[in-house]
Amino acid sequence: MIKRIGVLTSGGDAPGMNAAIRAVVKAGMKNNIEVYGVYDGFRGLVEGKIEKLDYHSVNDKINRGGTFLGSARLSEFKDEKVRQVALEQLKKFGIEALVTIGGDGTYMGALRLTEMGINCIGLPATIDNDIASTDFTIGFDTAINTAVDAVDKLRDTSNSHQRCSIVEVMGRYCGDVAIATALATGAEMVVTAETGFDLQKVLDTAKQCCEMNKRHALFIFTEHITDVYELAKKVEAYSGFETRATVLGYIQRGGSPTARDRILASRLGVKAVELLINGEGGKCLGIINNEITAIDIKEALEMKKTPLAKFAHIVELLS
Ligand code: ATP
Repeated sequence: MIKRIGVLTSGGDAPGMNAAIRAVVKAGMKNNIEVYGVYDGFRGLVEGKIEKLDYHSVNDKINRGGTFLGSARLSEFKDEKVRQVALEQLKKFGIEALVTIGGDGTYMGALRLTEMGINCIGLPATIDNDIASTDFTIGFDTAINTAVDAVDKLRDTSNSHQRCSIVEVMGRYCGDVAIATALATGAEMVVTAETGFDLQKVLDTAKQCCEMNKRHALFIFTEHITDVYELAKKVEAYSGFETRATVLGYIQRGGSPTARDRILASRLGVKAVELLINGEGGKCLGIINNEITAIDIKEALEMKKTPLAKFAHIVELLS
């Protein structure tokens, strides 16, 4: 039976990470396992920024955004020699297994460490919802609620001034934040990498909205599709609809996690400890049809994400 495990958060921070750490610490301690927090992800692991956690460490954390352990990116972790240093740190602290909370890059780090003899369990946490092996990642629900709240506010002012709004949300390579936000805010159109970007369609839709004398028109874009400020100028010139662009940016990563994210994080954290107690490693957890799942990280990384883009047509149907 293992006696000591570690927990770290890595990659981009996501609301609900704290709830996941809390679950790991509490579930570990209830099973007579000591839990050590590794600060600043794999970087902190290599540097030995490791400290024992207890009930007090996770007091008043379930409701907090960000991650109190801190997060970092360390591309050098791909180098086996660097991971060897991490392994020595784990040995020094007597840590036998690790829960890693982050995105698919973090899964890779966890897989490599498992191959080197330290059982790791990966928890999916990223606001982008870009992990194929789970329906939802920790942080996604909070991020879309933040985006919806912001777009609702933009709608108030745009409606008052009869304006068209182009809003850019986060998502990098996955349009799920955009699709969910567009569906929940009643947008005219959503543009993501999966839907493709048809400039003429955007211009024509805006013109149509203007001709229909709509008080407000809303277009949701995923980041990295186009320069939305330049697009707003084109839309206004073509359609005659006064247009403003807004980039929501990092506010989408922060804030108190929603109940859904806290619950997901708690369930995943408990399951991770169970698996480590059973001597399992190299696995990542997810939620599929409301059941917590555990599959090999290798298999998970080969899976193809089913993006929410399959619902994009509903946005246009209801526009
Ligand atoms: P997000 O989706 O928020 O970006 P992520 O976990 O995918 O989260 P990354 O920066 O891709 O974020 O990965 C986090 C960390 O995992 C990296 O900084 C690195 O330390 C480690 N990592 C990523 N890829 C590998 C790999 N191939 N081998 C070993 N470690 C890796």
